[in-house]
Amino acid sequence: MTQIICIANQKGGVGKTTTAVNLSAALALSEKRTLLIDCDPQANATTGLGIDKNDLTKTLYHGLIGEADAESLIIGSEIDNLSLLPSRVELIGFEVEMMNEREREHSLKKLIRSVADRYDYIIIDCPPSLSLLTLNAMAAADTLLIPLQCEFYALEGLGQLLQTKELINAGINPGLSILGILLTMLDKRTNLSHQVAEEAMKYFKGKERVFNTSIPRNVRLGEAPSFGKPILLYDAASMGAKSYLALAKEIIDG
Ligand code: ADP
Ligand code: MG
Repeated sequence: MTQIICIANQKGGVGKTTTAVNLSAALALSEKRTLLIDCDPQANATTGLGIDKNDLTKTLYHGLIGEADAESLIIGSEIDNLSLLPSRVELIGFEVEMMNEREREHSLKKLIRSVADRYDYIIIDCPPSLSLLTLNAMAAADTLLIPLQCEFYALEGLGQLLQTKELINAGINPGLSILGILLTMLDKRTNLSHQVAEEAMKYFKGKERVFNTSIPRNVRLGEAPSFGKPILLYDAASMGAKSYLALAKEIIDG
């Protein structure tokens, strides 16, 4: 069975893309057939895998508006078992273009229907907003993975995200559940990080799973995208690489 995981948090800079790219790579290296879908017009996941946007003729945008099928958009990567459905800046136009379309929240779900069963995992990287693109990702997904940056305002805005999930459950995707909360950019040396981790545990206790694995603040994780490589190819011995492998294992083990 394919598991479709949407990585969402409407805050920017919390580690969504870093998690999407590196979790996908870790799943693929764990011999799971994995597709990463870049659902953000900023296309950071696409460049993070070393794809030159100028080499692409069509992208997710063309798929969502019905001008290309998924098969023709999906490209391979440096890692066996890891494919990408790339994005580019034109994806910004999707929202406006769909304004008067019925079922506009279901475009992504419809697009990937024909290819989904080729993969064990499909990971969707969302933009930093609760926009139509994020709704499309939530409509297409089985589960939600929420990265939470270990900083002062970490929990702020979370209510809105959870409320959006409830609305999705009441309407377009009753089956969407929360896979887990992932603490990111954790700095074990600071009290603040510990406080945020504790607060998150308290907030979700008994309701949602907070992953045992947390992602430390790690310079190598920040460097890897500028080389167009997932951390596991850039520096496999780093703490960042080890923690994304551990997260993949935690998810595979269920
Ligand atoms: P988002 O997709 O939520 O906007 P990103 O994954 O792009 O967030 O992360 C924001 C910035 O922080 C990026 O420059 C990224 O390289 C860096 N970053 C993300 N996670 C880590 C980490 N664990 N340690 C160090 N830097 C990180
Ligand atoms: Mg991002």
